[in-house]
Amino acid sequence: MSQERPAAPPYTQPVRPALSRAVHDRDGLRRAELNDTLHRHPDLRVLMVTDDYLVPTVEADRGPALDLRRGDTVHSEPAGWSYLGRHDGVAYAMARGSRDIRADRWVGLREIGAEVDDLDAGLLVEAVGLAQWQDRSLHCPLCGAVTELRDAGWVRHCPADGTEIFPRTDPAMIVLVHDGADRCVLGRQSIWPPDRFSVLAGFVEPGESAEQAVAREVFEEVGLSVTDIRYVTSQPWPLPQSLMLGFTAQVDGDQRLVVDQKELAEADWFSRADLVRADRVRPKLPPPVSIAYQLITDWLGEKPATPAWT
Ligand SMILES: [Zn+2]
Repeated sequence: MSQERPAAPPYTQPVRPALSRAVHDRDGLRRAELNDTLHRHPDLRVLMVTDDYLVPTVEADRGPALDLRRGDTVHSEPAGWSYLGRHDGVAYAMARGSRDIRADRWVGLREIGAEVDDLDAGLLVEAVGLAQWQDRSLHCPLCGAVTELRDAGWVRHCPADGTEIFPRTDPAMIVLVHDGADRCVLGRQSIWPPDRFSVLAGFVEPGESAEQAVAREVFEEVGLSVTDIRYVTSQPWPLPQSLMLGFTAQVDGDQRLVVDQKELAEADWFSRADLVRADRVRPKLPPPVSIAYQLITDWLGEKPATPAWT
């Protein structure tokens, strides 16, 4: 390794959803230099990611933890290893593997994203997001040639025309619509079970701001006009490659819901009391790993009692 730069811990958000807790230094300026030497780092820990984006975990005293292997014990092809960054003198990498490797449990981001500690949460969401992008950029978007991975996993290079492809993230907005008092709107997608509800969400379209996407999606999905659109927080959701931008918005005028049946099976207004009652069966709320849970918790001022859907 060349001379060390000071570590740069990430900014800590005032409102931190489960997958926005990273504490490691992504150390992006050294990716190119590490392309051919990452596997020789003297203190390297490697996170295996399967083709269906599961990772190995161990049961630690505090709960589940990533099963991070010493670099010299991992036998996959080092050419495909990707640099995730560093923390407390340890370098972290992602490698592709299969479930043939022995582990206590192979699990997905949805299952353990909210249960692992801050360091593991940051490494997990970065590794899964990077693996998803690598799998979706195998071919050059201009000429279709098979691309080569470079810069320790962060660039795909087209050998035919020299195009360099960098990891992409799609902005999506998610919004808790409220009445300025004690009620908010939750909707249920038609593919969800009967009691499962969440806040409204949709992708930002080309040429649109996030706030404009909020107003458009709310009107399209439930027929409400909104005002006082406020940004709250964001969370990566790399299944496959979204960045969720979380907002609140207040209904403006008519509060009658007109549900677009193509997008939602139903939607309704719920009071704070409706959402915190421990004995409720409906609505079931999103799990703690989601930014939807964070937006609802933030608006309630307390954690909703179980049950959540999984
Ligand atoms: Zn090309």
